[in-house]
Amino acid sequence: MADAEETGPKRALVVAAHPDDAEFGCAGTAALWGRNGWEFYYLVCTDGSKGSNDPELVIERLIATRRREQREAARLLGVREVFFLDYVDGELAYSRQLVRDIVRYIRLVRPHAVFTHEPSQIIANRAINHPDHRAVGEATLDAVYPMARTRPAFPDLTAEGLEPHRVGEVYLWNSGEPNFAVDITDVLELKMQALLCHRSQIHEAERLMETLRERLRGEDGRYHERFRHIQLAF
Ligand SMILES: [Zn+2]
Repeated sequence: MADAEETGPKRALVVAAHPDDAEFGCAGTAALWGRNGWEFYYLVCTDGSKGSNDPELVIERLIATRRREQREAARLLGVREVFFLDYVDGELAYSRQLVRDIVRYIRLVRPHAVFTHEPSQIIANRAINHPDHRAVGEATLDAVYPMARTRPAFPDLTAEGLEPHRVGEVYLWNSGEPNFAVDITDVLELKMQALLCHRSQIHEAERLMETLRERLRGEDGRYHERFRHIQLAF
């Protein structure tokens, strides 16, 4: 993948713990910015294998279903490609291996912006934030800075031709301290449709859509995805 930060389209990498997290977090922004020349890529860290309480469940079938749903949602939003790391859902812990895997994709995609989970939230939106979300958020921040940009950090990746890369901006969703809002009113229905692609996860669609609309609606009646935005100075 050529490094075209100066002249080419802006690229964004979305790092999510589970299939469907990216749709909750930033699908509207991905769709909207995609229309303005941005290229979005997804990196999903776990296999989604805990996403069912069905006693008859065949795990392999659920994993395949969730991959298919994630790809379908991404296609709807105009996301260029979805990568999967396939860590076991619910068992993700911060590790050097996880940071390395994320660095690999940062160096491969070479994004200007990275979107991911806010890692510091244990309680978010009056609910317990999933531990996988926290692990991914923290590992992604460490991958952005300093690991992806540091040549001696992972010499094996550099030997593979994955040169260091500086990310310019980070956007964290589900943050208790949002400082950046994207007006997604024009693509709200598209975000909802993308969420509904995750059929194996959504059981009360009407109620979920209503709750989400309420959460995204501002005082002005318009809908926003809110982020904690970090501009990396150099
Ligand atoms: Zn999740």
